[in-house]
Amino acid sequence: MTQSEWLLPQPEDTIPTSGLRDSAGELDPLAAPGVIGIASELVLSLPITDERGHPTIPPDRHILDHLARAWALVDEDTIIEHPFEADTVAVVDVLPRCDRCGAEARYDTAVLDAVRGRCGAYICLQHIVDAEYTTLGMGAATYIMKTTEVPASIRQRVNQRLVEQDREPRFAPFGGQP
Ligand SMILES: [Zn+2]
Repeated sequence: MTQSEWLLPQPEDTIPTSGLRDSAGELDPLAAPGVIGIASELVLSLPITDERGHPTIPPDRHILDHLARAWALVDEDTIIEHPFEADTVAVVDVLPRCDRCGAEARYDTAVLDAVRGRCGAYICLQHIVDAEYTTLGMGAATYIMKTTEVPASIRQRVNQRLVEQDREPRFAPFGGQP
């Protein structure tokens, strides 16, 4: 896995931006569907929950992107070259508490507070209805995943990478799983 494979492909890498703008520098509406397609693949249209209210679990590539940045699995230059991050998921050992009820929180997002206005909050699945946002991603909501919930293939890849970097594996081995 090369370093840039840990991170999301950047819009500039994927589309020729020069072809998207007219001579005045405005986005060409004929080219816009391509941009929207790429943006939605990356982040923008990932709903917080499905129609039945079950949480959307962000795709593996978003989990890799988060871990690569949060745990410094790639070097600084690679991160600078990939400024556009998913920010749909965060991996933690212990879930924070819901700011509304104290249960285990699943989202880092914002709520409307009667006194303080819009403010950042950890929210549980039950109180997701109070969130100001309905999508996951930068500036909206982040799904909080426990380290034990990270898919086995990712845990293995991350541990291998940490060993390559002369660091301790951070995921405990799981019985029976490859
Ligand atoms: Zn709650």
